[in-house]
Amino acid sequence: MSAPAAITPSTALCGIVLHPASHTRSPAMHNAAFRALGIDAVYLAFDVAPERLGDAIAGARALGVRQLAVSLPHKRAVMSQLDAVDDVARRIGAVNTVTRQPDGSLRGANTDWLGAVRALEREAKLDGARAVVLGAGGAARGVVHGLLERGARVTVLNRSPERARALADELGADAAGPLTALAGTSYDVLVNATSVGLGADDASPVDAAALRPGSLVMDTVYEPERTRLLRDAEARGARPLGGKWMLVHQAAEQIRLWTGREAPVEILSEAFDAASAGRELP
Ligand code: NAP
Repeated sequence: MSAPAAITPSTALCGIVLHPASHTRSPAMHNAAFRALGIDAVYLAFDVAPERLGDAIAGARALGVRQLAVSLPHKRAVMSQLDAVDDVARRIGAVNTVTRQPDGSLRGANTDWLGAVRALEREAKLDGARAVVLGAGGAARGVVHGLLERGARVTVLNRSPERARALADELGADAAGPLTALAGTSYDVLVNATSVGLGADDASPVDAAALRPGSLVMDTVYEPERTRLLRDAEARGARPLGGKWMLVHQAAEQIRLWTGREAPVEILSEAFDAASAGRELP
């Protein structure tokens, strides 16, 4: 990871807290955006075990860290450590961004939902679309919120169907059920927000035969980039969309929340690709 052009006493510190931290592309992406925008800041990854989260947030507070991204497994637990949490993040029940305010207080927000929506909107119109979200965890809650916000009709399917039902009732989705219900469901957009397919797990949460030709199939998983679900979708004549774009757009929104500036999506995307290939950007 290359540092900003020069580190000075006024260089701002930002970062991501997660556990484990080995797979994160966020430092590469944010540092590239800071360089492109001429922002005097450096972004690091902090591997924080669940029992040390309180210490980590207290430390960030004391050190004046400007912004912290929050990833697995801390997105819910961090909420009680903050001075304020915005309404959308509270509704979703997960914070993935902590931004230091001018008065030094720490405010939590959720940019995952907007990242998911912006990624999907690259490829499809969401207003009036029939959407199915697989999963009922933190990522699924964000995706369901975003789809409803954009006027889609949403069905939630999950391995534990009672969690899908609870999520659908709470956020106002149309229907819910087990993952196997996909086969009998019509949809234009399918989003995998389960963790199935992550890392070395070359599996799909649903049968390939349930993937509808012509539909848009987005995986929130971005490691690997071409998951089993996306390969199956392509083979079935559906349009596959990898989790990279959700990550890129949610990162752009994080930078906007802190700096008020539009982050260059192409730079974030190139940095993601470079980090995936183990390269550094010049
Ligand atoms: P989470 O809260 O732990 O939820 C995990 C979900 O996966 C639950 O719905 C769980 O079902 C389901 N699941 C786990 N193992 C399963 C299995 N073997 N078979 C079927 N379903 C299974 O995790 P999360 O925070 O929502 O994250 C989910 C995924 O989203 C992760 O892969 C993460 O990388 C991805 N994500 C991507 C981005 C991005 O920017 N691209 C952002 C955020 C998250 P049960 O309810 O039955 O346990």
